[in-house]
Amino acid sequence: MSITENINKIKAGLPDDVLLVAVSKTKPNEDIMQAYNGGHKIFGENKVQDLVKKYENLPKDIEWHFIGHLQSNKVKYIVPFVSLIHAVDSFKLLKTIDKEANKIGVRVSCLLQMHIAEEETKFGMSFEEITKILNSSDFKQLKHIELAGLMGMATNTKDTARVHKEFAYLKSCFNSLKNDFYKNNNSFKYVSMGMSSDYKIAVDEGSNMVRIGSLIFGART
Ligand SMILES: *Cc1c(COP(=O)(O)O)cnc(C)c1O
Repeated sequence: MSITENINKIKAGLPDDVLLVAVSKTKPNEDIMQAYNGGHKIFGENKVQDLVKKYENLPKDIEWHFIGHLQSNKVKYIVPFVSLIHAVDSFKLLKTIDKEANKIGVRVSCLLQMHIAEEETKFGMSFEEITKILNSSDFKQLKHIELAGLMGMATNTKDTARVHKEFAYLKSCFNSLKNDFYKNNNSFKYVSMGMSSDYKIAVDEGSNMVRIGSLIFGART
């Protein structure tokens, strides 16, 4: 099947309110253009250098999402054009994004990454850490970021019960934060969870943004 057929097949199985981020990391511009010409405009990258290069060389109406671990010193390269930063995992990073956005007069949408998997290697914060940030006066001073929700990655396991549980936990944390901090504010709206291997479980558990790479573009080498 073609890239566009893959995308259309995935979209046909997603509820209307679930956004698909086509994860194009490591894939060439031609693959992205195939998806683009088929009508898909939202792509995810996880390396700053690759993202900047692709942004420069591809149509300007593409919505670029940064989905990887972001280093503070590289924030400035993507802030001018990025649509959503998925994996903000410290207050320091949030503050840096705010500072760089302020310099050029933009507002950047961000998701906070929560640690929900059992693996220790995966980045992300605990619910307590996130609550502490949202309660802090330092956070309230950030005017150039918009907190748009949460992101998380489940354990890479065949134990689907475990994956269900981890995604359900992330969704419950989202609901709780929404209720406590963003009750009358629709900007806090995304739960970014689910990849090629587990997006159906994630959608079952309330994801409204899935990040899918290999199912669309084929395996990465
Ligand atoms: C690579 C990546 C994905 C997509 O992974 P696939 O298994 O290819 O769908 C999703 N989210 C993040 C954070 C990634 O790094």
